[in-house]
Amino acid sequence: MENIQVLKPYYRVDETLAEIKECLEIGWTGMGFKTEKIEEKWREYTGLNNAYFVNSATSGLHLAFKELKDKYGWQDGDEVITTPFTFVSTNHAIKYENLSPVFADVDEYLCLDPLDVAKKITPKTKALIFVGLTGNIGRYYEIVELCKKNNLKLILDAAHMAGTRFNGEIVGKESDVVVYSFQAVKNMPTADSGMVCFKDDELDKNAREIGWLGINKDTFSRTTNEGVYKWKYDVPNIGYKYHGNSIMAAMALVSLKYLDEDNKYRREISSLYQEKLKGLVSEGKLSFIPQPEGLESSTHVVQILIDNRDKVLESLYAANIYPGVHYTLNTEYAPYDYANNTCPKAEEYAKRVVSLPVHMGITEENISYICKVLMDVL
Ligand SMILES: *Cc1c(COP(=O)(O)O)cnc(C)c1O
Repeated sequence: MENIQVLKPYYRVDETLAEIKECLEIGWTGMGFKTEKIEEKWREYTGLNNAYFVNSATSGLHLAFKELKDKYGWQDGDEVITTPFTFVSTNHAIKYENLSPVFADVDEYLCLDPLDVAKKITPKTKALIFVGLTGNIGRYYEIVELCKKNNLKLILDAAHMAGTRFNGEIVGKESDVVVYSFQAVKNMPTADSGMVCFKDDELDKNAREIGWLGINKDTFSRTTNEGVYKWKYDVPNIGYKYHGNSIMAAMALVSLKYLDEDNKYRREISSLYQEKLKGLVSEGKLSFIPQPEGLESSTHVVQILIDNRDKVLESLYAANIYPGVHYTLNTEYAPYDYANNTCPKAEEYAKRVVSLPVHMGITEENISYICKVLMDVL
């Protein structure tokens, strides 16, 4: 029998190839052309002020911290409150700018707990990064208020959240920056790309310059209509090569078209797991992560909590089922281990968490099989 993987990208192959073919035929695969189109479509879809298409969410997160640090004059060592329960990009991005990650604990949603966050605020705290784990938002709106009250900038790591809505609205307008990932196994797949959405137009403009090696064409394009200086540009600052390209944008354009439909299917998978496993839930052998009322989650993955996690995983592997674990706490890794043992709830959850297979290739039959094996094992 075929292995069931936790995550697997699904592409509409012919439609995606047709979009890519346009790039190849006109000979334009780089920045511009399709990247402008996906940015426009993403602004339309999300209602966010700006959208800059980049080569990964990791790059987008770095640009977020760099731009905010420059604009608001943050110093090296200034603090950013963050979660240990995430992919390392979230915290690496803080460190890229020599800022200091201060870890706060999570709540039952596995997202930052506003009560613990409040305790971690110091005079050096400048910002908070919130991770909408699996597309959930936990107590995001309380965090928004807390940030306002304490004058902290808010970055939303929305790598799992493409299409997440609350009371019918895309989540993120409340944040200073929202960063999405369109990496292959995320819920809006390309091969590798992302979107960084600044609320502030000036930061969006600067990020585009810094994301293209610091190149600024404005000065010359404004002053010359003769064409003599068409090749000339200024480089006022050192930048990075972070912008996206038209091949990835072509893939994203197709994925975006089906995003709501795909997320709906993911929510159906989630409901089926909950339905079929409710026996184990009532016996107290397994629990799902709760979601706030009014949330329509992108459902990047479905997480459960179980005891003896590693032994159960072995039994599942033996049945050709390959769930994942999101995540090992970042505070277990050397760059962040100064904060090991500072987030007791996160540590408890991290020992028990499992991500069940969720992707467009999962069938009801797969789910029945996975649930049956889980019931046997537990
Ligand atoms: C995947 C992921 C990222 C990084 O996304 P890339 O596009 O691969 O750089 C950042 N944060 C979280 C929470 C992620 O899961």
